[in-house]
Amino acid sequence: MAQHEHVRVAVIGSGFGGLGAAVRLRREGITDFVVLERADSVGGAWRDNSYPGCACDVPSHLYSFSFAPNPDWPRTFSGQEHIRAYLERVADTFGLRPHIRLGHEVTMMRWDNDELNWVIESANGTTIVADVVVSATGPLSDPKMPDIPGLADFPGKVFHSARWDHDYDLTGKRVAMIGTGASAIQIVPAIQPKAGRLTLFQRTPPWVMPRMDRNISGAERWLHRALPSTGAARRGLLWGIRELQVSAFTKHPNELGLVERVAKSNLARAIKDPALRAKLTPSYRIGCKRILLSSTYYPALAQPNVDVVASGLAEVRGSTVVAADGTETEVDAIIFGTGFHVTDMPIADRVVGAEGITLAESWKDGMQALRGATAAGFPNWMTIIGPNTGLGNSSMILMIESQLNYMADYLRQLNVLGGRTALGVRTSAVGAWNRRVQERMKRTVWNTGGCTSWYLDARGRNTTAWPGTTGEFRRATRTVDLGEYEVIRPRKTDAAGAVVAGKAVAEEVAR
Ligand SMILES: Cc1cc2nc3c(=O)[nH]c(=O)nc-3n(C[C@H](O)[C@H](O)[C@H](O)COP(=O)(O)OP(=O)(O)OC[C@H]3O[C@@H](n4cnc5c(N)ncnc54)[C@H](O)[C@@H]3O)c2cc1C
Repeated sequence: MAQHEHVRVAVIGSGFGGLGAAVRLRREGITDFVVLERADSVGGAWRDNSYPGCACDVPSHLYSFSFAPNPDWPRTFSGQEHIRAYLERVADTFGLRPHIRLGHEVTMMRWDNDELNWVIESANGTTIVADVVVSATGPLSDPKMPDIPGLADFPGKVFHSARWDHDYDLTGKRVAMIGTGASAIQIVPAIQPKAGRLTLFQRTPPWVMPRMDRNISGAERWLHRALPSTGAARRGLLWGIRELQVSAFTKHPNELGLVERVAKSNLARAIKDPALRAKLTPSYRIGCKRILLSSTYYPALAQPNVDVVASGLAEVRGSTVVAADGTETEVDAIIFGTGFHVTDMPIADRVVGAEGITLAESWKDGMQALRGATAAGFPNWMTIIGPNTGLGNSSMILMIESQLNYMADYLRQLNVLGGRTALGVRTSAVGAWNRRVQERMKRTVWNTGGCTSWYLDARGRNTTAWPGTTGEFRRATRTVDLGEYEVIRPRKTDAAGAVVAGKAVAEEVAR
């Protein structure tokens, strides 16, 4: 058998999750690891999403690593190029480059029950063997394109917001923007002044709150540089405010009525035409879908070169786009702001566990993982910001850092157990965790607010959002409870090849 490179840990992906994992591994004294990234640079979502207007919608001082504060954020909500540059700096500052393998798309990872390790194949033909896989491939990393009849024959330009074609000049063009999610509402005001005509296809209007975005002054930056504790205090304040908001989302959706009034006045201020205002007024509770932040979206929609079609795109006939309500519009370009494969992430088809089935097959009734990290039947495999870790109002970096604590303790436990050992999460532990999550989900605005959203899977189950505070998640992921795991050791066989010791013996070790 060919000898393959062997590492202790293989991290997949180099966004916030993968780079954060790499920093943490080094801090834990683990240097025998690789970061496999399919693209030709690091940055994840912040490399791929370069559309005009792209910026974070959680303030930068909170949407960054606690261990890598950046006193020089230029704006309260910094743009994509600054966040991407920040991640490049993280890779340099923490000495991650030697570990990173770019152009390494993982096509398959298989658990070897005898060797107790993962065999990872990449599209470039290389195979790497790893004791532990940390999958940080991101919940919003594979763009979703709807299957629209006639689209293949459209003679103009077509692209997704996450794969922006910067060579295509929109000046004077007739553009159809499909979707009204977080990306679309940033794109619309950025391209409206250029486009000849912009037609927005809206299936459901979002709730849009004003965005308190501003330049961070030179004095503030100086202060954060000279006195880092002021940056930490700012971050703490941003975090604390968001923690206080959580119970309105998760327990008392009626309390969101006040927020709804602010969003309604944001709409009324910018949109004077009652017919357009009616089209743009949501009919579900605010918070049910992600609350969007923009002070420029509504003003852009009020411009004379913009039409809002309150219906989804149904068909393309030549260069004419046809809405579900029959509206026909001739366009030069179609831009899809239609989101990502969130509850059906492609990586799940590329992981084959101890029972010989893929993660996608194991999750056919819905994604579930203990503490958003480990899945039954997939030993020594964990995902960063996996099922039910998404937030409605705060920074995903907080959740990523919680899971990095969990990852670090997982690796410590494996070291303590010693030898060739794996941890396999018990089905009962995943089930118990998931039941608690789903029970709490029943009261949340995401499940009761009267909308459908990307938080819900095809069966209407919320397998993406975390129904609690980030502090609670931090506590739940501080350490690994070995009682939730089986300890797996290599199988021993007798002279006739029968298994005489292995998993069953090891279970007793765990108890
Ligand atoms: C436009 C946009 C704006 C956002 N704004 C915010 C915000 O303001 N606040 C917030 O909290 N969250 C925001 N998010 C959510 C965002 O997904 C997370 O905050 C965070 O960036 C996720 O980091 P990640 O490392 O888990 O995933 P990603 O950043 O998506 O990185 C995943 C990486 O894995 C790589 N990869 C995937 N599959 C493979 C494979 N098979 N082989 C090798 N490599 C692979 C990808 O190329 C990518 O580099 C936003 C997302 C988007 C798309």
